[in-house]
Amino acid sequence: MNSDVLTLDDLRAWKPGEPPMRLAVLGDPVAHSLSPQMHNPALEACGIAARYGKIHVRPSEFREALRLLGSLGFIGVNCTIPHKFAALEAVDEVAAAARRLGAVNTVIFRADGSTEGRNSDGPGFLRTVSGEFGRSVRDLRILILGAGGGAGQAAAVQCAMEGCRSLLLANRTREKADQVAAGLAGLPGGDVVRVVPWESGALRGELDGVDLIVNGTSLGMTAGDPPLVPYDALRPGHLVYDMVYKPLETPLVAAARAAGAAAINGLPMLLWQGVQSFEWWFGREAPVDVMRAGLQAATGWR
Ligand code: NAP
Repeated sequence: MNSDVLTLDDLRAWKPGEPPMRLAVLGDPVAHSLSPQMHNPALEACGIAARYGKIHVRPSEFREALRLLGSLGFIGVNCTIPHKFAALEAVDEVAAAARRLGAVNTVIFRADGSTEGRNSDGPGFLRTVSGEFGRSVRDLRILILGAGGGAGQAAAVQCAMEGCRSLLLANRTREKADQVAAGLAGLPGGDVVRVVPWESGALRGELDGVDLIVNGTSLGMTAGDPPLVPYDALRPGHLVYDMVYKPLETPLVAAARAAGAAAINGLPMLLWQGVQSFEWWFGREAPVDVMRAGLQAATGWR
């Protein structure tokens, strides 16, 4: 086990350290998490005497870990794979947006000893689009690739809640996109949603009428993955938002930039979700530039 990763046994025999650990990400696995590299510089910059750590928690340990962390004076935690669903059941109160997504990735330990679960996927998506592209989702025609997966679905729900101009959903397993689309009925953007076949000819035909292309699949992580869309249909007006950040320049991002489009990898999404968590925990504006610099130093992202 990586030495900077704590376990449940460490919580049982707690030594808070200096500054004391008061925030953490819980996951299984968790060693790869980049969250400490953005939150610790932010805490320091804000003069908050607290540290953000990583805790390896198995599914069977999750409830005990959450209870212990509350009693140890933690301010909050992030929950990553596979705990987002268990967290929904384990917290005392669930925010409406997290309930709609069926997952909690941010927990707040309140002063009265209770816990509140929220989900930063939706707000993080909006803030990524505005923070990186300077655009509001409301003004955009959006295509989400992988809309049936967890991250893609969160983006789709948020776009529909905001009332984007149009929303196209595509997913390899079409039924999942159909289900997501059905779940958007009644939201402000619910009547501008359409499911598109996961097929390059169909996607090519749609790209001209799309402003923002979101990749919510894992395609692009492995050399030799097929293209997500026909690259020759990308154009300068497109905004491309790839949730993948390994490699830092994914094939989709590289193709978009070559076509003159604006493109980002998945690190800004990590950044803006971290910003959102920080603001929920502390009720103050997060030092975005410091957090961005922390992520850049940790990854080489520019
Ligand atoms: P998930 O729930 O497992 O969803 C995976 C999605 O990828 C599904 O839509 C799946 O389609 C699709 N997919 C997988 N392999 C495919 C293939 N060979 N061809 C076409 N589609 C394929 O995973 P997730 O949690 O949503 O994560 C999805 C991606 O987003 C991952 O790359 C993850 O690293 C990234 N992500 C990034 C951030 C960030 O902060 N940057 C946060 C969360 C997730 P089917 O439904 O057909 O299986």
